Amino acid sequence: MAKGINYEKTEGERLSDELTFKRESIWERKELKKDILNFSKDYIKFLNAAKTERLAVIEAVKILEKAGFKPLSEYKKLKAGDKVYYINREKNVFAAVIGKKPMSDGINAVGAHIDSPRLDLKPNPLYEAEGMALLKTHYYGGIKKYQWTTIPLAIHGVVVKNDGKKVAISIGEEDDEPVLCITDLLPHLAREQADKKLREAITGEELNVLFGGIPYEDKKVKDKVKLNILSILNKKYGMKERDFTSAELEIVPAFKANSVGLDGAFVGGYGQDDRVCAYTSLKAICEITKPTHTAVCVLADKEEVGSMGNTGMESRMFEFFLADLMEAKGEYTELALKKCLANGKMLSADVDAGFDPTYASAMERNNACYLGEGVCVAKYSGHGGKSGGNDASAEFLGSVRKLFDKNEVAWQIGELGKVDQGGGGTIAYYLADQGLDVIDCGVAVLSMHAPFEITSKADIYMAYRAYNVFMND
Ligand code: MN
Ligand code: MN
Repeated sequence: MAKGINYEKTEGERLSDELTFKRESIWERKELKKDILNFSKDYIKFLNAAKTERLAVIEAVKILEKAGFKPLSEYKKLKAGDKVYYINREKNVFAAVIGKKPMSDGINAVGAHIDSPRLDLKPNPLYEAEGMALLKTHYYGGIKKYQWTTIPLAIHGVVVKNDGKKVAISIGEEDDEPVLCITDLLPHLAREQADKKLREAITGEELNVLFGGIPYEDKKVKDKVKLNILSILNKKYGMKERDFTSAELEIVPAFKANSVGLDGAFVGGYGQDDRVCAYTSLKAICEITKPTHTAVCVLADKEEVGSMGNTGMESRMFEFFLADLMEAKGEYTELALKKCLANGKMLSADVDAGFDPTYASAMERNNACYLGEGVCVAKYSGHGGKSGGNDASAEFLGSVRKLFDKNEVAWQIGELGKVDQGGGGTIAYYLADQGLDVIDCGVAVLSMHAPFEITSKADIYMAYRAYNVFMND
């Protein structure tokens, strides 16, 4: 309303202001703009350095150590304010800031996952065909296979050789290094392929990575291109073909994360599900000094394939970590540990589907999350009739909402698409199984699980704020 004009709101307008919920973009809060844009700069660097779960662990430890966290084994006794971390098998990290209250009063935890959809190499990946060396892959997690063809790819991982020595492999990241690629059929000859269903157009067995084309110079040997590749690998890493069998080599996009949009509103990059929540929860715990309840940050592996295994959230390693903390505080009993879990609360920090106007028909507008409107809370996950998911109680959601509002954390609530459209789960219910109050709370993503996922810088910043106030509560 222009100044100087006397305008009295009607009763209906006043009532509407009071009773109706109105969506708002975080960008309208101009005072936050600088902090929002700054926050994403280091996040983009993190994405580029942490393209696999193992690399994410290395980067997480750098961030934690810079903030004063030390390995749990370096403490004889723990007291309030101490900052500790524990690495589980190089793929899973737990970090904590010890609180003033006994741990049996409960913990305030935030849990994200650091594995992302990708292509793993098969145990016998390398073969030669028509003068080309190729690598067989086995996809990991839910991917749209066609998205992985004709983009530059890199390999990361480890190879454990016959003598037990482990070498780290990285190909395709440096400017002077070659990248790898999966080919696709030219449109001129793709009539048959184009008539197939999208999910059948490229099959798992067609995701073969182009790995070489120069033959080894010796007329007497067969598979000369393959041999030349093996000799390069042997010179560079000391490995032989058989060493692929005891390796974990992951094919990921080679391109770098970047700001997206002329105004730089978004971050585009690989692996934002769920490294966006991993990074923000790490930054959030780094700023906690002496909380009331012990603050815990979990970075889990294997979420994209169901959270199983001893580095996934289904395992009892989390319980073990808590027991170890309690032991170092002189508080451990079996019952105290159970109380710690039963009185605990957790944000399952995982991404949510953002509303994409181009694919509006998959979402229900009133219960979708929108980019730039805050951290997304999902009361429940699962599919169909809510099966296979966690459902947070009204009481817990009420307390989280109150906390966020008090601390001016912009938040929104939504479901993952239309009721019958599909669905998904997170680590939430594994923690709820152990007695914690858990709710999903993360960043909205466009093109989720694609090689280049999109998030809003405003939401990234809000996720960090949300995790910080929750752990500090
Ligand atoms: Mn996820
Ligand atoms: Mn996912």
